Amino acid sequence: MRAYNGSVTISTDNSPVIGLGMPRILSAPGRLKDTPVAGAKRVLLAAPRGYCAGVDRAVIAVEKALEHYGAPVYVRKQIVHNTHVVAELEHQGAIFVDEVDEVPPGSHIVFSAHGVSPAVVNAAAERGLQAIDATCPLVTKVHREAVRFARDDFEILLIGHEGHEEVEGTAGEAPEHTTLVGSPDEADTIMVRNPEKVVWLSQTTLSVDETMETVRRLRKRFPLLQDPPSDDICYATQNRQVAIKKVATDSDLVIVVGSANSSNSVRLVEVALEYGAKAAYRVDYASEVKQEWLDGVNTVGVTSGASVPEELVDELLAALADAGYGAVTPVKTAEEDLIFSLPKELRKDLKGSRAARPE
Ligand code: SF4
Repeated sequence: MRAYNGSVTISTDNSPVIGLGMPRILSAPGRLKDTPVAGAKRVLLAAPRGYCAGVDRAVIAVEKALEHYGAPVYVRKQIVHNTHVVAELEHQGAIFVDEVDEVPPGSHIVFSAHGVSPAVVNAAAERGLQAIDATCPLVTKVHREAVRFARDDFEILLIGHEGHEEVEGTAGEAPEHTTLVGSPDEADTIMVRNPEKVVWLSQTTLSVDETMETVRRLRKRFPLLQDPPSDDICYATQNRQVAIKKVATDSDLVIVVGSANSSNSVRLVEVALEYGAKAAYRVDYASEVKQEWLDGVNTVGVTSGASVPEELVDELLAALADAGYGAVTPVKTAEEDLIFSLPKELRKDLKGSRAARPE
């Protein structure tokens, strides 16, 4: 994703306009009114927020693939769960498909950051596709755990949301050994073959608190339940939840930038409400903020999900400044400096082309 250069095209009627070379909806200046409230107005800006290392890597992988192989490059499912990012990559020549049988044989296909099951990898190979696996390495770690525990004949209780691509990919590593647990309530009713050989794993983007409640209830029923070797809920999900907890305590309103299908963005709204925000909403774009949300609000907490480029937060802050919330205080709870290298298939091809290039 190109770095945001601070200059954007603003539509005056809130209609889609061409901004950084793609269709997008920007908030019109002055759309939100600066209405009086008792006391000062301010924004608390959570940090960390926005892009994680896995999303950054996946988006760059598609961009590099387009640059190196030329358009079109096919991508199975949304590369990351963000409407804006997907629209921008489509504009650059990426074609998003649901399944590999929609892709012409011989084409390049990128697997999304959420991961794929071995069945998808095999189907792509059988079709003669050239696959670039942009699965986040932290999702791959959970896949490896699933394979290992299944090999040792454990029953895997996979905590996650039914139908989420990541859950389908992880469960697909060992379908015969995996039972999905969708909520703490489900932990009270699921059945296992052998209560002495059970382990729990989880989706990487869940609420930490709710997952621990699910585990507590599972362990009450299955005292020999094993923990994963290390946290499955990833560092980025955890860090964003810790930051919004701190922000929410002092906020009348929390706005989370993120898409409806982004699990970690939706969890941030839930966590904000649990930790004291009087109201919390998720928006894809600043243009979705409603004037009435700001009625009587002194402090607005702002954060963004792990698949959200910072330019969308900048636009929200600009819209809030129009409404009198120009004083922004960062609330930082962790430093992040993790970077993942590009998928190995892409690194190999990029290296090959550099070697072939005449001096
Ligand atoms: S949210 Fe976590 S698991 Fe998902 S892509 Fe980002 S770092 Fe990887």
